[in-house]
Amino acid sequence: MTTDIKGQKLSIMKCDACKDGYLIPKPNKDGDFFLGCTGYIPNGTGCNRSLSKSAYYEMLGLSETPAPVHTIPRGFSKTQTDPILKTAVVKSATSNASNDEPIIIEKASVNKTTHYNDIDLNNILHTILQCVSHISQKRFYGITVLVDVLRGTSGKRITEMKLHEIEEYGALKALEREVLIHIIEWMIQNHYLLRTKGQYPVLHLTFNGIHYHEKITSNQLKQLQKTLNTPS
Ligand SMILES: [Zn+2]
Repeated sequence: MTTDIKGQKLSIMKCDACKDGYLIPKPNKDGDFFLGCTGYIPNGTGCNRSLSKSAYYEMLGLSETPAPVHTIPRGFSKTQTDPILKTAVVKSATSNASNDEPIIIEKASVNKTTHYNDIDLNNILHTILQCVSHISQKRFYGITVLVDVLRGTSGKRITEMKLHEIEEYGALKALEREVLIHIIEWMIQNHYLLRTKGQYPVLHLTFNGIHYHEKITSNQLKQLQKTLNTPS
């Protein structure tokens, strides 16, 4: 997802330094691109967060090989798992395929476990993020599909895209639908996930989400636990 295709593999993401900014591809004076915050103000009073292309590539394990050129298909085929990614893979025989592999989210080691109904909240959050990473390989989805996959719900939409083959399928079936939605909303509010705007919002992993093990704290888990135990 990008705002400027000239930025090649640079993809927009939620700024981790300010509340409402996004890191988007911007050209530097040499004509190369970096990620800079939309909250940047030239006089320095805004958000100065930026990420060089090499730092970004290193972070996501991307190669410098140019992104494959491919056309966006007109519709989603029912037989192919993901028309966009599939064409990209097929046509980019020379490029490193590492950017097509799922992002592996590391588990966090927090010094105190926080539970909800005997389930470790840290495990729940990690499972949700890893599930988003896996389903996003097929397509980007909204909360409903994510919850269906996590709870192991069957249905045409699930089997058509082979979402039941995902490792996290049914992994959180012990949790009620409303509880899972509450947790995912909390993760959006706390910038572990990004929900796009528009008619069909979909979920993306954020910088915080990818770096979950470094970002999550026992305090945050406690705070989430509190909101779960307080009926709203
Ligand atoms: Zn920012």
